Amino acid sequence: MTRQLFVTTALPYANGPLHLGHIMEYIQADIWVRNQRMMGNSVHFVCADDVHGAPVMIAAEKAGLTPQEFVAQIAAQRKQYLDGFHIAFDNWHSTDGIENHQLSQDIYRKLKAAGFITSKVIEQFYDPVKNMFLADRYIKGECPKCHAKDQYGDSCEVCSAVYAPTELIKPYSVLTGAAPVMKSSEHFFFQLSNPQCVEFLRAWAIDGHRLQSEVANKAREWLDGENGLGDWDISRDAPYFGIEIPDQPGKYFYVWLDAPVGYLASLKNYFSKTGQDFDAFMADPATEQIHFIGKDITYFHTLFWPAMLKFSGYKTPDRVYVHGFVTVSGEKMSKSRGTGISPLKYLDIGMNPEWLRYYLAAKLNAKVEDIDFSAEDFTARINADLVGKYINIASRAAGFISKRFNGKVNTAWASNEDEFLMDLRSIATEVQSYYEGREFGKALRTIMEKADTINAYVDSNKPWVLAKDPLNDAMLQEVCSRLLESFRLLTLYLKPVLPQLAEQVESWLGIAPMNWKDVVTVLPDGHQIAPYQHLLTRVEPALFDALFAAQEEEIVAQENKIEELSEEITIDDFAKIDLRIAHIVNCEAVEGSDKLLRLTLDIGEGRTRNVFSGIKSAYQPEQLIGKFTVMVANLAPRKMKFGISEGMVLAASAADEKANPGLYIMEPWPGAAPGMRVR
Ligand SMILES: [Zn+2]
Repeated sequence: MTRQLFVTTALPYANGPLHLGHIMEYIQADIWVRNQRMMGNSVHFVCADDVHGAPVMIAAEKAGLTPQEFVAQIAAQRKQYLDGFHIAFDNWHSTDGIENHQLSQDIYRKLKAAGFITSKVIEQFYDPVKNMFLADRYIKGECPKCHAKDQYGDSCEVCSAVYAPTELIKPYSVLTGAAPVMKSSEHFFFQLSNPQCVEFLRAWAIDGHRLQSEVANKAREWLDGENGLGDWDISRDAPYFGIEIPDQPGKYFYVWLDAPVGYLASLKNYFSKTGQDFDAFMADPATEQIHFIGKDITYFHTLFWPAMLKFSGYKTPDRVYVHGFVTVSGEKMSKSRGTGISPLKYLDIGMNPEWLRYYLAAKLNAKVEDIDFSAEDFTARINADLVGKYINIASRAAGFISKRFNGKVNTAWASNEDEFLMDLRSIATEVQSYYEGREFGKALRTIMEKADTINAYVDSNKPWVLAKDPLNDAMLQEVCSRLLESFRLLTLYLKPVLPQLAEQVESWLGIAPMNWKDVVTVLPDGHQIAPYQHLLTRVEPALFDALFAAQEEEIVAQENKIEELSEEITIDDFAKIDLRIAHIVNCEAVEGSDKLLRLTLDIGEGRTRNVFSGIKSAYQPEQLIGKFTVMVANLAPRKMKFGISEGMVLAASAADEKANPGLYIMEPWPGAAPGMRVR
């Protein structure tokens, strides 16, 4: 029976770009979803921007935009991340969409009718200049315990004391600096303390398969804690970027009420675009609702969210899958320390998105564990496992099939009694269930063990030896065909993790897109494949220098440590330096020098120039060949140990080359031609 799945990832807050933690969660969910689809199950996989609340409102104001304009700019940036890492959401929506307004208000009305909404007048700090109530994070003052200055309204970063904002000494508004005043306002509460709620949540959370055991334990702690569950304040006063509370002018839903409703809103929006019936789908008992989230938002997803849905008569979640954080080289990601990795920078410098998918999958399991990103581990897993074991199988066999057998495979041996084939297929069910259980690391380990077996087959059958004697042709064709069939099956097993690579392989082998049913098929006897093209490159460790250098540059800029300016010159002094656009027609290492590269430059003089440059630490020769750069063309030729240097190329470097050793040569905008003067 096919399953009917509704899958979401947490909605990212729309006040900044996506970071590695977001991408990790999307990749985790995407792998899970792709596996389901390959099994023939029906999946609707959606997400949205979480756009409401004070932080977006304030950020928009700073940017001189309306909140709607601000979040539209953020939304426009999302696609490059999702496409870049092959994340196949069916829909990406916004919590400010009409569907979310309607659904949030409907849920509220039903909760109210069922007696789960109460109201109470509360006193709160208010900024008299900005005319708005202040959340704790917008109030600072002196810590009442240790008297440290500039501490936030809820806790002290110096002595860790926890207090109410009213206890701060000399409090001030972070927004205007004004002294806040106390003001009262009516707030609305969702009655989480209602015994019906507690009883429902206890049963929901403890049910053996809905939550991971460590998450269920955490939920039980919250439910059975000393003070039990408090009622939840779900309203905020204007000005607020949010959804208005029905019949309560000037009152808005707190962003955490409408954010998870955004899951339903995105699905509803997708269904309306594709002509499907949202209400019927949600009412169908066969529908499974599954949320992938990070551990920091467990409280909202295991208490508020299921209770809200339950008592408004909506379907409650069937599974909440919680994952840990990503650390980089053992440190929690932090931009200021430069340990963060920018996913866009990763793509920009040409790192393969499927390396990251494979690497993260290899580290992921079903537990709520943090995973650590390490450049050495990353390089080893891609180069040794993925390229060294898996890709190696294709590259060993493909050439012989193309050159010797006109691209035709022989699979006459492939019966259901063939042991080699049975062994290959034997791991299919296990791999499938590891994907299902989010044990991706175990799935990849099982697949790589099979790759080891096949590589041992290569070593014992030695196709390169068979190829020496035409009498062995039949044997050679069979051995290579077995290898290609192995490669096809391993590709199928890896397809949820490496969808793009699988597509390349399918097109190379000339076969239809594979799913789990294709485990029992085989390449047809006499089937012709296309000539082999390179499928996946190795990771060059230098790429990590570029990836991490970006962060270092940021820090150097932040600390404002620039080199002192040179003494002033006149325009005539500058005019003496003849700078020209040069085409790098060749570049090579210089034997005996660990610093220099030899550049052959063309500036349109009808001859080329030989220039030595001390940039070997920063560039591989092949990275520079064909590029344009800027050279000093009237520098007197200099005789060096390795020959005459006829000019100089320009490169940027930091004042403190020890702390920031990067070297960056100039590259003109497209359109500049060799010989043009730079002035
Ligand atoms: Zn303190």
